[in-house]
Amino acid sequence: MPPAEIAAIGPMIREVAAGLLHLVFPTPCHVCGRPLGRGRRSALCRECWEALERVGEAGCGRCGWPFPAAAAAHGVEQPLCQRCRETHDHFEAARAVLLYRDGGIARAAILLCKHGGRPGLLRHLAGLLAREAPADLMRRTWDAAVPVPLHWRRRWRRGFNQAEALARAVGRRHGLPVERRCLVRVRPTPPQRGDTAARRRNVRDAFAVRHAERIAGKRVLLVDDVFTTGATGNACAAALRAAGAAAVGVLTLARVE
Ligand SMILES: [Zn+2]
Ligand SMILES: [Zn+2]
Repeated sequence: MPPAEIAAIGPMIREVAAGLLHLVFPTPCHVCGRPLGRGRRSALCRECWEALERVGEAGCGRCGWPFPAAAAAHGVEQPLCQRCRETHDHFEAARAVLLYRDGGIARAAILLCKHGGRPGLLRHLAGLLAREAPADLMRRTWDAAVPVPLHWRRRWRRGFNQAEALARAVGRRHGLPVERRCLVRVRPTPPQRGDTAARRRNVRDAFAVRHAERIAGKRVLLVDDVFTTGATGNACAAALRAAGAAAVGVLTLARVE
């Protein structure tokens, strides 16, 4: 038997052994605990995957929030929600696909990726973001996708930046180059908490642009996992605009209710 074929036996045996083990001890779904279906390698069962909560049709022209008054605001082309009427943002529009709420499946799945390092699940979520990216954001035409960066130390510790995986999937599906070295986090910031003002202070001057020539004059689509108050997206957009980007849009996998 040629050496290459002998070498291929090891992984085959491992695969078969993993399959048998899975039959005897079915892995539970990481969200609901139900046993995962046979052969299902994802961390989520089919029921949980299908029950991921979606953000409704965009209501607010800026942040996309489906606020109830939007439907009633006839005649207004793009009504703004209270948040957007009270805040100045450096991004043109922000949209998300999933709802991030306490006890929700989307939140559980995103936290699993972030802290459990689940590359398979992250790939699935990235695919979902790319497929379901709201059309009213995507049709504005973008020139490049830019992931929200982690500080290099955090990225090194974690081994990956999930915003990067999301941006890659979006770039692939929508034909956008991914500029992942343009925007950098120049100082580590504590996790975002508190109200909008506190969050804005926390990320002020945290981002800088390197190789400004790569984004100068371009319409940049910023990609991240969660939109909470928009403070991070806004700080990134401010840095990109100051470096010459023509406009910035924000696409996130989820947004806080
Ligand atoms: Zn489940
Ligand atoms: Zn809004």
